[in-house]
Amino acid sequence: MPHDLPKTYDPTAIEDHWAEYWVREKLFAQPTPSPDAPAQESFTILLPPPNVTGQLHMGHMFEQSEIDILIRWRRMSGRRALWVPGTDHAGIATQMMVERQLATEGKSRQQLGREAFVERVWQWRRHYGGAILDQMKRLGASVDWQREYFTMDENLSVAVREAFVRLYEQKLIYRGSYIVNWCPRCQTAISDLEVVHEEHKGHLWEIRYPVIGDDGKDTGEFLTVATTRPETLLGDAAVAVHPEDDRYLHLHGKKLRLPLVGREIPVVLDEWVSRDFGTGAVKVTPAHDPNDFAIGERHHLPSINIMDDTGHINADGGAYAGLDRYVARKKIVADLEEQGLLGEIKDYTNSVGHCDRCKTVVEPRLSSQWFVKIQPLADKAKEAVRQKYIHITPEMYEKTYFEWMDNIHDWCISRQLWWGHRIPAWHCAECHQITVAREDPTACAHCGSKKITQETDVLDTWFSSGLLPVSVFGWPKVTAENRADFDAFYPTNLLITGFDILFFWVARMIMFGCWFAADVPMPDGSKRTLKDSVPFREVYIHALIRDANREKMSKTKGNVVDPIEIVKQYGTDAVRFTLASMASPGTDIAFNVARTEGYRAFANKIWNAARFLFMNVDRAAEIGITVDPATLGKMPAAAEDAPLEARWIVAEFNSTAAKVNASLENYRYDDAANTIYQFFWGSFCDWYLEIVKLRLDFPMDGPESESASQQASKHAGRQAALTTLVQVFEASLRLLSPFMPFLTEEIWHALYDGNPPAKSIALTSYPTGDEHFDDIALIDMGVLQSLITEIRALRKESGVEEKASTPIEVRIDAADRSIIEKNRNIIERLARVDDIRFVSAISEGLSKHSTFKFDVAVIYERTIDVPAERARLTRDIAKYEKGLAAADRQLGNEGFLAKAPAKIVEGLKKQQAETRLLLDKAQAALKALPPE
Ligand SMILES: [Zn+2]
Ligand SMILES: [Zn+2]
Repeated sequence: MPHDLPKTYDPTAIEDHWAEYWVREKLFAQPTPSPDAPAQESFTILLPPPNVTGQLHMGHMFEQSEIDILIRWRRMSGRRALWVPGTDHAGIATQMMVERQLATEGKSRQQLGREAFVERVWQWRRHYGGAILDQMKRLGASVDWQREYFTMDENLSVAVREAFVRLYEQKLIYRGSYIVNWCPRCQTAISDLEVVHEEHKGHLWEIRYPVIGDDGKDTGEFLTVATTRPETLLGDAAVAVHPEDDRYLHLHGKKLRLPLVGREIPVVLDEWVSRDFGTGAVKVTPAHDPNDFAIGERHHLPSINIMDDTGHINADGGAYAGLDRYVARKKIVADLEEQGLLGEIKDYTNSVGHCDRCKTVVEPRLSSQWFVKIQPLADKAKEAVRQKYIHITPEMYEKTYFEWMDNIHDWCISRQLWWGHRIPAWHCAECHQITVAREDPTACAHCGSKKITQETDVLDTWFSSGLLPVSVFGWPKVTAENRADFDAFYPTNLLITGFDILFFWVARMIMFGCWFAADVPMPDGSKRTLKDSVPFREVYIHALIRDANREKMSKTKGNVVDPIEIVKQYGTDAVRFTLASMASPGTDIAFNVARTEGYRAFANKIWNAARFLFMNVDRAAEIGITVDPATLGKMPAAAEDAPLEARWIVAEFNSTAAKVNASLENYRYDDAANTIYQFFWGSFCDWYLEIVKLRLDFPMDGPESESASQQASKHAGRQAALTTLVQVFEASLRLLSPFMPFLTEEIWHALYDGNPPAKSIALTSYPTGDEHFDDIALIDMGVLQSLITEIRALRKESGVEEKASTPIEVRIDAADRSIIEKNRNIIERLARVDDIRFVSAISEGLSKHSTFKFDVAVIYERTIDVPAERARLTRDIAKYEKGLAAADRQLGNEGFLAKAPAKIVEGLKKQQAETRLLLDKAQAALKALPPE
């Protein structure tokens, strides 16, 4: 039976083929379970949805490899495994992308108008939106593509609307004035989490505010304040001092004249003011600073907004109206100086917020926004983690989670964008009340007026992605007839994601999940408790992927590794294996191509092992020996009286499989991968395959060269050896499959020669391993292995030629002697030994190696070609002398020693000593040569 496996391993060819096959055959689809389906435990993971604008980067590939390994493992372990893919509409990012595209055509979104612009974004999405998912397909992610979602899909939008309306009805959504982080470029509020703070070298300007006397005239005294944003004085409502600040006691109750504007503003007393900062007097601009806003609330000060959406001064800024904020700053400083109202200017470094998307400096600014009253939701979400209904790994992130949740503010959910879920609220022009509704209203719910207009803001993107765990399984329409998905897959089992979206996304899913799922009864009709309302039972926060020097990958540094490029070069399997071999909780990965090269070699080794195996299967077939396919696909086993290597490889496999399963339970991808690697390369290829050749012992000249009686006598041994070989190999492929899905799929199909028992190796069962493996076989084989290793080392030391066989002397306890006797042929074959002499002590004059079980020596009389040896040694001596002279010269050079780094000098000295040693040895050997 021909096994179709090309001579060389070419990952690109096989990977493209299987990636396409898995999608086409819908192999990983997990349809809604039918009511009469057998009970099966689910294992569900939601893909952290990449932005629809995204391109796959190494971070994605790392995260998705981790997810894929676990989902493949659980699927093969008998769970109803489901990995749900999708993309996020990414409000700001996508709108920016399309705006840029419009700009190249000389158009703006304002020219297009809202409706046409949104249509344009949809067009963009249809053309380019699937790019990142196509990349995932090529990388073989075993997701259910039938369930692919987009956060703006109809059903998910229904969920968003229901969530908004329900929270509004529960009085958990309100509209309020609040200082938000305003991005003048994106022209929208952005959340605290979307603001990046950077140290900025700026100034602290002192400004002198004239004090007004009781007569309404300036007294000639000034109160000096310090500020980093002098332009905001246009919106000042007061100056605050600490009530106990002695310097300002006489100003209590006084008024000041606002420089350049002329408005009278009060001096207010507030304990928030720090007496040590600046002059101890602070200007209060409630509309442009969150702390000032709080002071303003306490003292009932007006909030005067002096800036428009684009960061220009508005009409309330008087003479400065229309100026950009930084132009206005310059002009105001110059004007203050001219009027003698400018005090000192000090250098000052402070932290300035930038928009995460476009890097524009964020302007804190008062605006009217929609908020979620977060407290009741946050309380439940905290309780869920505290009660361990949700486990977070690594555990340190639990603390981070609580710290954030303890200090959480109401969530500003409105964004001044066009792309996104438009807020389902209508403003009434007559009664000025708001109508929030599940269906678009035609009239005001309060006064019946038809003069209503829909809110122009859209919802924060995380509002919709926070709902995903409930909405992808049918919420809010979880009815008696339509709840099979929800029952089967909610709560999901595991979320694997990065630290960077712990608050953005993970915390919000927990809040929303706990809140909304609580209203969905359990399958038996009982009330759902918090324990079953959680969106997932486990969260695994993966580490960061860095470059080989442990630097963060960044475009500016130019050290970004493109996963698609690296995959083209080494194959997906090798890259996946590299990532897995370094992944463990809490440890960042330093991605090193050298390791990928190593794992490419590993894949190659397995490929060659497969070809060796197929060759033997084919040879065996020629003499009527075949492996019954029914013996495959399960845990390999060996009879008690089977040869040692068979019992051993089965025991090794069992122990390996048990370790791999345990490691994956604990997210120790690294241990799992390294254990498989050592088994496959070391135990299976380097040892077992070498020994099994001995058992199969096919004649080199073809089957005809064996007599019928020879064949008959070897038949049973060959049959058993071949069966174990194929059994263990097939099971090892299954063990490796989640880590190297393509390679194993290809070889597995070849192994079954076009007649596989399933459509894919990924749909077979995962080897569980067995804790009760044959440890006698492991110990006995250990003795053989260390004996062979020591003999090989001795042969090398005494210069035994590669092909020569030698006798050995062994001293070993009687108990262990039988292991050697019974497996004499293995030692003879693997260590090239032609005679084993058991002795009570190694003969005088033989160099021996010792372990705690045995002493061993190789008996070898070296025949030397004296003239050739003399020539070689003379050559070596000349080389060493030259090297030494150079080292001596360099180390004698004061100038060099003064400049060279200590490390280099040390290295040179070490090299010098080593060369001297080699020279001495060579000279002694030359002297010892017999005369010709
Ligand atoms: Zn921006
Ligand atoms: Zn009304």
